[in-house]
Amino acid sequence: MPALLIMAVLVAGACSGGSEKPTTVDAIRDRGKIVVGIDFEPGLALRNPESHRFEGFDVAIAELMAVGIFGGDRHELGNRIEFVEVVSKDRETSIDNGNVDIVVASYTINDARKQVVDFAGPYLTTHQDIMVAAGDTSINNVADLNGKKVCSATGTTSADNIRAKAPQAELILFDTMTECAKALGAGEVAAVSTDEPILVGLVANSGGTFKLVEAPFSEEPYGIGLPKGDVAFRSFLNRRLGEIEKSGEWSEAFAASLGRIGLDTPNPPPIDRSASVPSPR
Ligand code: GLU
Repeated sequence: MPALLIMAVLVAGACSGGSEKPTTVDAIRDRGKIVVGIDFEPGLALRNPESHRFEGFDVAIAELMAVGIFGGDRHELGNRIEFVEVVSKDRETSIDNGNVDIVVASYTINDARKQVVDFAGPYLTTHQDIMVAAGDTSINNVADLNGKKVCSATGTTSADNIRAKAPQAELILFDTMTECAKALGAGEVAAVSTDEPILVGLVANSGGTFKLVEAPFSEEPYGIGLPKGDVAFRSFLNRRLGEIEKSGEWSEAFAASLGRIGLDTPNPPPIDRSASVPSPR
């Protein structure tokens, strides 16, 4: 072998992997922690006031992804996982700016969002529903929201679905659904509308003052948001989702979170392994 070529081989070898960029998973391992954006809503992601730990189905999914990176037990990740609040309207920008590695936050997969971020999953398919005061009998479906004040969160498919399906509703928007629940409690709005798991959590925390209408009117496939174009990271997360579904950890996580507040454990939806849409940028 000519001396120059030998040198090139040695230099490439010394750079461990040559000119190849380290994967996102390697970078997270080197950093020693994964940063996860969550939406503070009961049932999906809320701090337990006694243990001070974050709990809920989205939290469990994030922890199970972290275990795929670091190993160990999802309840003993300690500072290998950092949860930060990302309200609904900030999900794309938080990923795009690199403030978080992933977003696990009742994040519906849709084509508009896929222009900006990629999604692993879906890891749950749910539906939008309506929450009203326990004694209310006037609202029984989405059409009944016309002419009423309805609360939802800014930058959500929930708000878009109300605009499309109850165009005469007066939409009141806050950053979080917890603020909507307060507005309902204060009689400032007639109804609150978003995805069933969030509403079930708010009903469970309402001490019997709110009820779920149980009139689902949309399909909401939840994905794990990740940086646009990170094909290897998306494949890693999809593989890991497949693993936890097969092992029973997915069902266990659902039963321990949303199951405890009354939802039956469903079958996980099929994971979308097709190529992501190319970025327009
Ligand atoms: N799944 C809906 C969305 O992605 C609602 C999310 C929420 O209110 O947190 O826009």
